[in-house]
Amino acid sequence: MYEWSQAHHELRAEFAPWYEVLSEGHLDADNDPGSDTDSDGGSPIRKWEQVRASGLLRLPFHTEWGGRGLDLLSTMYVLEGLGEGCRDGGLCFSICTQLVSAGIPLQRFGGPELKARYLPGICDGSTITAHAITDPRGGSDVLGMGMTAKPDGDDHWILDGDKVFVTNGPVADLIVVYALTDASLGPFGLTAFLVERGTEGLLAGPDLPKLGLRSSPLGELSLRNCRIPAANVLGRPGLGFAVLDHVMRWEILCSFIVQAGAMRHRLDRCVAHATQRRQFGRPIGSFQMIADQIVEMKIGVENSRRWLYDAAEGVVRGRDVTTDVAIAKVVTSEANVRSALAAVQIFGGRGYLAETGLEKDLRDAVGGTIYSGTTQMQRIRIARMLGLKESQT
Ligand SMILES: Cc1cc2nc3c(=O)[nH]c(=O)nc-3n(C[C@H](O)[C@H](O)[C@H](O)COP(=O)(O)OP(=O)(O)OC[C@H]3O[C@@H](n4cnc5c(N)ncnc54)[C@H](O)[C@@H]3O)c2cc1C
Repeated sequence: MYEWSQAHHELRAEFAPWYEVLSEGHLDADNDPGSDTDSDGGSPIRKWEQVRASGLLRLPFHTEWGGRGLDLLSTMYVLEGLGEGCRDGGLCFSICTQLVSAGIPLQRFGGPELKARYLPGICDGSTITAHAITDPRGGSDVLGMGMTAKPDGDDHWILDGDKVFVTNGPVADLIVVYALTDASLGPFGLTAFLVERGTEGLLAGPDLPKLGLRSSPLGELSLRNCRIPAANVLGRPGLGFAVLDHVMRWEILCSFIVQAGAMRHRLDRCVAHATQRRQFGRPIGSFQMIADQIVEMKIGVENSRRWLYDAAEGVVRGRDVTTDVAIAKVVTSEANVRSALAAVQIFGGRGYLAETGLEKDLRDAVGGTIYSGTTQMQRIRIARMLGLKESQT
């Protein structure tokens, strides 16, 4: 297991005072997601100004652009603290989307001009970012997407199609849109484009009501005859799959370490409750059936952390981590659902009430089994890596 230095502990502690500020009013925000007015749009990201001031959005970016220059593991270590300290799961999710959706691929695949144009605004949060991969046709089957891009002369592309489930989409200033530039080339026919809000033909839909993560705006995008400069291609045409692979590793490692932090907080809360709450003249934690649920929560946290940090170390060392990242995602997302459900149960009737925030945790957790590649798709990836190919007949 990774050894954290004193500098890591100090770094994490530096952000801790913000979490109370970011958590404040999170239950109201869940019931009325549009109530916070930090943005001029219809679906603001709650507390965005405070998020910006915290400096969290700068973590993994080079100091040259206003970032903190942290490596992947240090970034995750801070984000685990965010999950433990901030009770607003939707806000944490929007923060992770901001970190990974455009800034991370720009830093890795962007040329100097694109970086200079966009990274400073991404680091300070004045540019809100999103990524649009899923469309009405291509969900789990990314290459089955309907979004196309065709060359328009030498220096532009025309994008056409729709995107769905875009986190931060209703308020995003900059969106990485994945489109097929040549469907016959399979993975080499996918390209990632940087599309700015205000581009003619781009329409962002409103924030859509959903089961959980309600303070994270999510919506649809329509692109009709959208003319995008060729300079806004990330990497080069045909490199979209490599861009997506890089982004998905970061997305899974960063957003699920937040969940591990949230699971740790929930575990501590359940231990405290099980120690204090008495029934039949004894603390409920002394009943083996309650203790066992709490032990499972503990195993879930530790398992998730180990898989996530181990996979991250593999990324840094250049190992093939396809299987490890998929396992880390399945382990963490499923442990989070079980942990949230156990917490509701352990708190009894109080756990079912909105005011304890535990039912919200459960609704938030369900999303984790779907976004960043569903549980089923991760398992298929693991099976393929084991050489178990699916039959086409
Ligand atoms: C909260 C949230 C945030 C999201 N944010 C974003 C975002 O920012 N950007 C973005 O682009 N997308 C985002 N998504 C979309 C998400 O990535 C997709 O929902 C996901 O990839 C699944 O695609 P789909 O919804 O089209 O389901 P489908 O692909 O239609 O799948 C439906 C069901 O069939 C299963 N299935 C599909 N194929 C197979 C197979 N071969 N074998 C077995 N089972 C299979 C799936 O696992 C799933 O259970 C978000 C989703 C959620 C819930």
